[in-house]
Amino acid sequence: MPLDFNAIFAEILRSIEPDRGCGKVADYIPALAAIDRMKFGMCVSLENGDTHCVGDAEERFSIQSISKVFTLSMVLRKVGDDLWKRVGREPSGSPFNSIVQLEMERGIPRNPLINAGAIVVTDHLVSDFGPAAMIDELLNRLRMLAGDPSIAVDEDVASSEASVGARNRALANFMQSFGNLHNPVEETLAAYFSHCAISMNCRQLARAALFLAFNGRDPISGKQMVTGEACRRINAVMMSCGHYDNSGDFTYRIGLPGKSGVGGGILVVSPGHGSIAVWSPGLNKAGTSHVGSLALETLVRLTGWSVFV
Ligand code: GLU
Repeated sequence: MPLDFNAIFAEILRSIEPDRGCGKVADYIPALAAIDRMKFGMCVSLENGDTHCVGDAEERFSIQSISKVFTLSMVLRKVGDDLWKRVGREPSGSPFNSIVQLEMERGIPRNPLINAGAIVVTDHLVSDFGPAAMIDELLNRLRMLAGDPSIAVDEDVASSEASVGARNRALANFMQSFGNLHNPVEETLAAYFSHCAISMNCRQLARAALFLAFNGRDPISGKQMVTGEACRRINAVMMSCGHYDNSGDFTYRIGLPGKSGVGGGILVVSPGHGSIAVWSPGLNKAGTSHVGSLALETLVRLTGWSVFV
């Protein structure tokens, strides 16, 4: 029997109501500090092209670290397993911008979804495409998948983050000292800040990630975005490392591969079923959307879409 998304969304809205507005917005990036914590949007994208949305699902927000899933897809397509010479695939158990493990592991970041690892992924792509062309390539993919040519980098957010980017500069310089950054620090970081500052809404994000639910093949356009093997690996890394130092808790509660961003978005993939994007800007202590996680918990309970059914 097809799922009744109207009833599912009604139950989700009831379940989040007491917590609506809870959490703290990511004010360490000045351009994100003024976002309304009451916002909530969610969208589910399905194999047949149907999308089911609720709340502020059409409002664009800063996708931040969710972009790391798409850069990881690009780099695996380009360099394959060579990526793992420069970045690990273990959960860090540390905050997203932590530097401590980098010294013990000689400049090799724990995984591609924490800042240090994503900066290495970006550096790879800057080497392969050039700094501007890598952003163009990423935007073109997102625009094609989401069917919206207006998807773009929010330059105010990118320069806002660049103006306070001391921690990411420290990570990049530290990795460069171990020979694990191949381009000038500022060039790689400018590309990193740009892809974090892409603005998309829940509908576009869910739609753009649909290929990850279907073995790397976008079921609507028929395009093979990554190999089936790369797709399984991306989902595995999202499952174990997608939410900073609350990755274990997220997997325990939701049981799906996912990635959060400090803009309040969370992208999750239910292999064989569909992809889901949720946005609510109030974050928990680890930087994952508080209300977004609650909504996803209710969604998997009602759909049975957890991979641990
Ligand atoms: N651009 C953000 C940073 O580097 C991304 C953090 C996140 O969304 O986890 O701080």
